[in-house]
Amino acid sequence: MPTCLVTGGAGFLGSHLCDELIARGHRVICVDNLETGSLVNIEHIRDPDRFVHLNIDIIEPYYVDEPVDFVYHLASPASPIDYLRLPLHTLKVGSYGTHHTLGLAKAHRARFLIASTSEVYGDPHVHPQPESYWGHVNPIGPRGVYDEAKRYAEALTMAYHRQQGVDTAIIRIFNTYGARMRPHDGRAIPTFLRQALANRPITVFGDGSQTRSFCYVSDLIRGMIALSESGYHDPVNVGNPDEFTLLELAKAVLEVTGSQSEIVFEALPIDDPKQRRPEIALARDLLGWSPQVALIDGLRRTIESAGVETLVG
Ligand code: NAD
Repeated sequence: MPTCLVTGGAGFLGSHLCDELIARGHRVICVDNLETGSLVNIEHIRDPDRFVHLNIDIIEPYYVDEPVDFVYHLASPASPIDYLRLPLHTLKVGSYGTHHTLGLAKAHRARFLIASTSEVYGDPHVHPQPESYWGHVNPIGPRGVYDEAKRYAEALTMAYHRQQGVDTAIIRIFNTYGARMRPHDGRAIPTFLRQALANRPITVFGDGSQTRSFCYVSDLIRGMIALSESGYHDPVNVGNPDEFTLLELAKAVLEVTGSQSEIVFEALPIDDPKQRRPEIALARDLLGWSPQVALIDGLRRTIESAGVETLVG
């Protein structure tokens, strides 16, 4: 039975990854200090032979004294509300935390995958964004702590691969949604669902013409595991290329919830990208991967699996 170490395993994506790895017959070591995650996300996993949670802050050096085959490095604040509240922590987890986790993968000769982000592309001067686009990021704006931490973590990952021979992979994740997102984490889908289900006004930033592409969590996790098991080293985009304006997203949320909420407009955040859509030809060719869940179906599944009470928060 392969052993997988998942940093950030008590978070939104990490907990879904733990579930899927266990379902596929793997043993999972979840490393998470619960900074933005929660035991609630993993309390349903009751198999001590196959799952263990270690409350470790990966900013400090750490080691695991048993064989590890795969390391999935997801620990990092991920929503704007979190990384704006935790700017230094975000930089440290991307730098020290990634160093320590790469060192652990090296010591165990494990395959290492880092969860990077579409935010490494910054302002989308190229649209849709292919992996070859180097990006246009503001290093000193408030979002820079997240974007630059991820860019540094990618550089570090390639250095460990080239200089130290670590078997590494980089997944560039585009906006992903599903159950276990926190209702108040500031991201568009949990915010709109919370507001619509409580019949409160839906708050769209700017005029709502900025676009995003939303990937359902089960599609993302399937792509992440496929990449980890592929042996490929360069970055790979994983996301859903169907592109929606934020206003279209708000209307889709009204449709699936049957809510009567009105849509209101608020100021656009600083350095908010105007467009976001992945070019996924590489993931298709390399991994045979493509998303299967359309936005309306994914929103319905999110409501069913999370439950209205949890989403309203
Ligand atoms: P999340 O906040 O739900 O999960 C992050 C987890 O990391 C949390 O459980 C948190 O407690 C843990 N963590 C943070 N700092 C830690 C530390 N110092 N030591 C140990 N654990 C720590 O976020 P998420 O949405 O699940 O994102 C997971 C990863 O995927 C992140 O690296 C994020 O940048 C990346 N990502 C997510 C999305 C998305 O749409 N959800 C998009 C792009 C990239």
